Amino acid sequence: KTYAAAEDRYEKLEYRRAGNSGLDLPAFSFGLWQKFGTDYPYETQREIVLRAFDLGITHFDNADRYGPPHRAAQQLFGKVLKRDLATHRDELILSTKAGNPIGPGPHLRGGSRKSLLASLEHSLRDLGTDYVDIFYSHSPDLTTPLEETVGALVSAVQQGKALYVGISNYTPERAHEAAGLLRQAGVPLLIHQPRYSVFDRRPELNGLLKLAAEDGFGLIVYSPLAQGLLTNKYLDGIPPGTRAQNSAFLSPDVIDDTYRERATALNQIAEQRGQSLAQLALQWVLRQPQVTSALIGASSTWQLDHNVKALDFPPLTEEELVLIDEHGVH
Ligand code: NDP
Repeated sequence: KTYAAAEDRYEKLEYRRAGNSGLDLPAFSFGLWQKFGTDYPYETQREIVLRAFDLGITHFDNADRYGPPHRAAQQLFGKVLKRDLATHRDELILSTKAGNPIGPGPHLRGGSRKSLLASLEHSLRDLGTDYVDIFYSHSPDLTTPLEETVGALVSAVQQGKALYVGISNYTPERAHEAAGLLRQAGVPLLIHQPRYSVFDRRPELNGLLKLAAEDGFGLIVYSPLAQGLLTNKYLDGIPPGTRAQNSAFLSPDVIDDTYRERATALNQIAEQRGQSLAQLALQWVLRQPQVTSALIGASSTWQLDHNVKALDFPPLTEEELVLIDEHGVH
């Protein structure tokens, strides 16, 4: 079936400015980490990507590593881009990352110039596009001089292969250093991508939120639903087809009594507000002004439709935030 984009797609979501840049990102961005490899039906994957776009999600987050196998998620996205979204390329923000291991030998990993720039070239071929909007160093590489990693990001922009640069999983200290080096090079750090959720408060506790405001970069936070743990679906067991049942990245062992107690209590707070736990958890990360976008995944269009409604509810009150603190993990 031919795809025609929903005409009302820009009337549904909020768009938020990334730090001190000129770039707005949708409050929800879509990530292709899991179930976008060769492990899931293409037509379902295509339907989810196109629904995201119809909902106003203009930003798609990818990485050389995403699959399985590695690179498959970008190839899948490239296929949808070519077939359905080609006329919308200017409306899209496409991100990719490099630096995490994607193959054998010393060059398919790490923060070297070789690893980052060769990976980006390959990603552009997989995505079928001349440039990505955001190119990230996927994680810090403490064995490579930060100057070299940052230099590779700067080169990507100078070569016209990326419009903006980002970093992910960096400590605040290293992020501050990277921001300084990038500023000097005239390629300001657009965004940092850390994990942040009711179950992972690190960006609050280690000063990253504060630093983002001071250094002027945005934050796009990944796994805001803790991979699905911050939904109501694991309260009574582990349903088939879910990540806890079939993903290498979410062990069923985390669904224990302590988890169930916390999730049940959080679920009650959400129900009292007339929303779901997933919606509460998403509103919770987006309450921070430094958080530009919540980076979500989905294995069905139902999940997407449901999750993007999170901002239709009244803001969380001080009392509710205190209650949520009691049940989150510190
Ligand atoms: P989430 O915490 O949003 O988890 C998404 C998963 O939760 C879905 O795939 C689905 O899993 C489940 N889910 C979502 N909504 C619902 C719902 N309403 N009810 C029940 N279950 C639901 O984010 P991810 O962990 O997927 O991370 C998002 C993106 O962040 C990634 O795709 C990637 O782009 C990025 N990321 C970046 C990392 C980095 O190092 N920079 C690391 C990790 C992620 P299912 O149905 O399969 O159980």
